[in-house]
Amino acid sequence: MRLTSLPRLSLAQLPTPLDDVPRLTQQLNGPRILFKRDDLTGMGLGGNKVRKLEFLLADALQQRADVIVTGAGPQSNHLRLTAAAARKCGLDVVLVMFGNRPRETQGNFLLDELLGAEIIFTNDADRSSVDRALQEVAEDLRRRGRCPYIIPRGGATPLGSVGYVECVQELETQRVAQRVQVDHLVCAVGSCGTLAGLWLGACCFNAPYQLWGISVSRPRGECLARVQQLATDAAQILDVKPPRASMLPILRNEYLGTGYGIVTPEAVDAIRLVARTEGIFLDPVYTGKAMAGLMDLIRRGEIGKDEMVVFLHTGGAPSLFAHASVLLP
Ligand SMILES: *Cc1c(COP(=O)(O)O)cnc(C)c1O
Repeated sequence: MRLTSLPRLSLAQLPTPLDDVPRLTQQLNGPRILFKRDDLTGMGLGGNKVRKLEFLLADALQQRADVIVTGAGPQSNHLRLTAAAARKCGLDVVLVMFGNRPRETQGNFLLDELLGAEIIFTNDADRSSVDRALQEVAEDLRRRGRCPYIIPRGGATPLGSVGYVECVQELETQRVAQRVQVDHLVCAVGSCGTLAGLWLGACCFNAPYQLWGISVSRPRGECLARVQQLATDAAQILDVKPPRASMLPILRNEYLGTGYGIVTPEAVDAIRLVARTEGIFLDPVYTGKAMAGLMDLIRRGEIGKDEMVVFLHTGGAPSLFAHASVLLP
């Protein structure tokens, strides 16, 4: 496997903790739950994108890029972390955002401004308007003699996913050291790069647990197709066998609610419960919905009380500040 020979920057504080959440478990009358604290990856207030960026920005530097171009919405954690990582590498950064400039400068958007990112709006609410604009912005930069490196939405490229192959290895080491038997791993799914990396990692390292992805954005079929493509291409980069269908993650999208970024009452309940039992902040867009999903799977008995669960906390807390009105009705 080529995992250790790929160009990589050290941006994240690793390993992230694997912590018991006994008061949450007790409150749910549920199975033993551990949080894998990827909200604590350190750089730029942390989150799952930092693991991907270690590989993506190393590639950008190798290609002699001088400006990073990426896109998403104003409350994107991916944008905040990409801008922070770019700054740490001495690079300029252009962020393309769908829609219009928000009325309020809060949460991730505030942090993007502090990082001095150049921010461009597509003035089109359609999220995929970003994808077209990324190419145009990069073309324009090239005409002006710059060397742009494009990172697609969510950092969801095969190379980015490699960060989560490595996370599985890290978790295996912790699992053995802490003598815990893990039956399930649950995470939020957006652009699908994280889950793709976890799946390939689970295959490479023979991880014995069932992977669950809770979609907060895309329909189930689209997620599965993306996960399959990303994981297969990541396997090529790493020179390992393609991921095994028998270990395919279970993908659920019934916790998405009305749409991406629209908070559900169940997610608000989950955010409050985790804050009040464990002093840990989930977020309204990703981890709140993923935890609402985990709570429902436990309630339905799809995850048994005698089993053990790892919840991958992928970060996102800065967007809490931009959602005050829906969090405290
Ligand atoms: C981006 C993100 C995710 C989803 O990860 P993907 O790799 O895009 O599927 C989950 N949680 C948070 C907080 C995120 O910012």
